[in-house]
Amino acid sequence: MHDVLVVGAGPAGSRLARRLAERGLDVLAFEQGTVGEPLACSGHVSTDIWEFTPEGARERLLQNTIRGARFHPEGFDGEAHRFHRDEQISAVIDRVALDRELAEAARQAGAAVRENHTVVGLTERRDHVELTVRGPDGLTHHRGRLVAGCDGPNSRVRTETGLPDPEELLHGVLGFSDEPDHEAFVDVHLTVPRFFAWRIPRGEAGVEYGLATPPGAAVNECFGEFTDAYDVEPDRRCSGLIPIGPPSTVTSGRVFLVGDAAGHNKPFTGGGILYGMTAADCAAETIEPSDPATLADYERAWRAELAGDIRMGHLVRAGYSAPGPLQHTLMGLFEGEIGVHMDRPTTLFSREQLRAMLPRL
Ligand SMILES: Cc1cc2nc3c(=O)[nH]c(=O)nc-3n(C[C@H](O)[C@H](O)[C@H](O)COP(=O)(O)OP(=O)(O)OC[C@H]3O[C@@H](n4cnc5c(N)ncnc54)[C@H](O)[C@@H]3O)c2cc1C
Repeated sequence: MHDVLVVGAGPAGSRLARRLAERGLDVLAFEQGTVGEPLACSGHVSTDIWEFTPEGARERLLQNTIRGARFHPEGFDGEAHRFHRDEQISAVIDRVALDRELAEAARQAGAAVRENHTVVGLTERRDHVELTVRGPDGLTHHRGRLVAGCDGPNSRVRTETGLPDPEELLHGVLGFSDEPDHEAFVDVHLTVPRFFAWRIPRGEAGVEYGLATPPGAAVNECFGEFTDAYDVEPDRRCSGLIPIGPPSTVTSGRVFLVGDAAGHNKPFTGGGILYGMTAADCAAETIEPSDPATLADYERAWRAELAGDIRMGHLVRAGYSAPGPLQHTLMGLFEGEIGVHMDRPTTLFSREQLRAMLPRL
């Protein structure tokens, strides 16, 4: 019997597997495909990412450094509001390579990570959980004292366990054009229903155009209008789901969810790489396989770490649907140099932000 079975080797699953293995626990992780594939993510993250990656990863993963954003509240004809810092705010990274680095770090720490193994069934028993897994050699069964569902927005573990879904699932679309762009600003267009469209310069890797919308919105039409306005025809398109708003609970008797499966995402950007890995660390620090009651400690720990910023993130997102003139006024208040942390919207009211705004008041 394994201490912890991890389902999914994305950032959340690999981080969790690594940290648990570092504690000396017996960890087995299953990934349904090849780690990192297929790509469905911008890989635009705060510089905190380097606290979670192995030594030297920055040189291998970094595509471009970002110092600010231009917000376009009324589309291309409107005035753009610039938010910036003198130093780097965020990084554009090779997301496929990130997942590979994290999975390799988990293996180095002693966790077993099996690719091409899909979890197709889960049964919770009194003293263990059994997973049914489809791999190259057919169906196999595995027992763990605990199971971690790190299997993304459409989590099978969540469904099999009967845990509630995140509040909302957005539909994200990406496309790429090849011309190198090393500019240090991303563009954010508040021109799609209840979310935004973006342009990200990815250095030598080209330029990414993307957007996300709630279900029901005509995502492909919105994407076509957006890229037409830039006069580009991006290729290598891909898409994925983005959960917004974690459910009321992400734990059951011996099962817990981490990352997108648990809605550990920023409601105002959809970003979940760092929230998922932060929650994975909370789990690795609190759970005890011999005592499933410790899952309650994990639930408390991740909420203490992330819930305040998620609440504030919902408020920021509500601003995307505000009338254009109100958006202009609100952005005008904060425009210019900023002290806000990209993952922590609660820092809108921090001393750093006040200090950055003081010269303009
Ligand atoms: C268009 C788009 C752009 C985005 N841009 C950003 C961004 O710039 N920055 C950011 O921080 N976030 C971004 N995100 C969100 C980010 O991709 C996710 O938050 C992040 O991938 C979550 O990591 P995870 O490990 O929880 O889930 P995932 O990365 O989805 O990993 C889950 C893993 O589980 C595997 N799996 C699923 N089911 C099974 C099964 N039954 N058995 C075995 N394995 C299984 C999957 O193959 C996958 O590898 C974006 C998302 C989208 C859709």
